[in-house]
This record gives sequence, structure tokens and C-alpha cells, in this order.
Amino acid sequence: MDLWQKLDVLGQAAQYDACQGCGTQMHRVRDDIGRWIYPAVRPDGKRVRLLKVLQSNACQNDCAYCAHRSGRDTRRITFQPDELARAFAELAQRGYAEGLFLSSGICGRVDQATERMLATVELVRRRYQFRGYIHLKILPGADEASIAESIKLADRVSVNLEAPSPERLSALSRNKEFERQLLGTLEAANRLRNELGRPVSMTTQFVVGAAGESDREILATATRLYRGLALARAFYSAFQPVPETPLEDHPATPLWREHRLYQADFLLRQYGFAFDDLIFDEEGNLPARADPKLLWALAHPERFPIEVNSASREELLRIPGIGPRSAGRILKRRREGKLRDLTHLGLPKALAERAAPFILLGGKRPAFQPTLWGIA
Ligand code: SF4
Repeated sequence: MDLWQKLDVLGQAAQYDACQGCGTQMHRVRDDIGRWIYPAVRPDGKRVRLLKVLQSNACQNDCAYCAHRSGRDTRRITFQPDELARAFAELAQRGYAEGLFLSSGICGRVDQATERMLATVELVRRRYQFRGYIHLKILPGADEASIAESIKLADRVSVNLEAPSPERLSALSRNKEFERQLLGTLEAANRLRNELGRPVSMTTQFVVGAAGESDREILATATRLYRGLALARAFYSAFQPVPETPLEDHPATPLWREHRLYQADFLLRQYGFAFDDLIFDEEGNLPARADPKLLWALAHPERFPIEVNSASREELLRIPGIGPRSAGRILKRRREGKLRDLTHLGLPKALAERAAPFILLGGKRPAFQPTLWGIA
């Protein structure tokens, strides 16, 4: 198998983002030379084309949802560091890839698998002088020296928790240990980036719906990580069954559940919502019928209507249809004169109509009053 055939297989395999190979299909594209390139957003908000690839799809672990789990009959391939570094450098030099996302299965000792990944990234940085974006997965249980090296080389590092608690993880894997291997590695990464003074961002990912966990459990854990470890992002990946795995007959998680989790997560990170503001159903899940912000607004009629001309930024962010950017725009427009009708908000029509039932403009309800999407 030549270098580019390997890249095809291990780029394709990285759609599962091992180590959390749950099968969610990201919006990937094949570039015009046929390699898998993924659009991604860097920590600074800039969009980049990432080569997302595994160092190896060989793994000794047994995660029940994963296409790369040990014992599954699939072709196992491993890149040597110089092969992968050379392939990436060529794609970068030709303008096909602007960044690298590198993960790996774990075959043999964790430190050996980690060393191969670090050697690849070192070559990319030092031999090929690549200064762009690198997201490096830290394998569960990696030692402190490897974690520190990852932090020095990458712009973003991640350790995937997969599940929100030890009990839920034990339903997915007999090999992985939640507190020591997963959370412990994240905690070590946070401590080391502070000690090294390297402001790399740190993320994690949850497989949603594979272990019977509720949205409440997932978001409670994410909230603890945002507060305790200054995590930049949690990613939520709807479980999709992979043939010939123990969960092949387990129902796929609907994508709307993943979407609701992202909406709730944005409220926690960017809208000033607390975990206790989120509304869950009897099973502890975010209801499908409306987004979490609208549900909160409907459950708190005492907080509305809000006078847009005098509201604080925090109050504006509680209004359905108004986000951090539009709140900033409204505050700016307010300095230029009183806002008297919906068009003065500078919102797209659909969002202005969403906000209308919850606001006052100059002491008056805006003229437009839509029905509340049948859920009031
Ligand atoms: S550790 Fe688990 S999720 Fe990661 S590649 Fe191995 S089996 Fe898959």
C-alpha cells in the first residue's frame, strides 16, 4: 500500500475521530486529489481546511461503538511518522490542507502510540516548518512528559471522555477507566498548560446515546469541565451503529438530540446561562419540541417583556432570537438613537419575529406578534 492509499484509508477512518470512533459523519469533502479534508473552526474562530487522519487504526481497546475496536475484522494500517509528516507537508504546500488533526488507535503501550504521533507532529513543525493549526489528540493514560510535549507542539489538544461518568463509560468499554485515564489526563493537560504558560485550547467529546445516559448527565459533566478545567469546547457526537460491533443493533441517536445539546452548550458558554436554567424532560433530556432558550423564556414569563432600549447585555441575551453578536449590534445602535420597531434591531426577519413576543420597543409591544410555533 503506498503512502496515498494509506492516507485514503486512515483519513476515511478518522471520520470516526478515534479515540471516540462513534461514526458521526462530519461534513467532509474530497479535495481534487481525492484526500479527505474537513472544514473546521480554529479556537480563534477562523475556518480552516483540516487533514483529519489517524496515525494508526490498530487498537487494543474494546469500545463497544468503535469501528477500530480490537477483534473487529478490518484492515489495520499504521503510518510511520516520516510518511505521514511528508504526506501532510505536501498537501499543505499545495494548498489543499491548512491544518492537521491527528488521532490514533492504541496498539501496544500508550506511550509508544503517543511517541509515534509526537514524532509526526515534530517533523511537521521542525523539518517542514509548518506554522499553522494542529489539533492533537492526547491518548488516555499518556504520561506527563508526552502531554507536555503535545502542549508545546499543538494549538489545541483534546482527550475524549466519551461518557459523562464512570458508570456510563463502563457500559461502553472494559479497558478504559474514567477517573484516572480520561479525566486524569484532561486534568494533567490543564495543569501542564498553565505551568508551561502555553495558552493551547482544550476540548473533549461525548458519544451521545450509546450508554443510556441523559442529556442532563452529559451537560452536568460538561459544565464541571468548563468551570474546573477551563475547557474551551465539548463536542457531542450522536451515536451511529457500526456493523460488527456489540452496538450494531443499538438504535442510532437522532441528530436533533446532538443539535439540542449544542444549543444548550452555547447557552452555557456564551449566553450567561447556568446549568440550573436548562429545562429537561422527565427522562433528563432536552425536549425535542423547541430549543432550550425558547423553552426557558416560555417558562419565565415574569422576566418578559424586556425593554430593548434599556436592557443590559445579559438581559438581551435571554431574549429568543438575540445572540451575542446581535446583542452587541443592538447596544451599538442604541447609542445612535432610540429603537422603535423590529427593523431597528438589525436582525434577520425570522430572528426578529422570534424575539417580538418577548420585547418592548420604546415601551410598546412591536407590531408583529407571531404564534409561538404551536408550543406556547
Ligand atoms: S480507544 Fe476505543 S474509541 Fe479509541 S480507537 Fe480504540 S476502540 Fe476506538
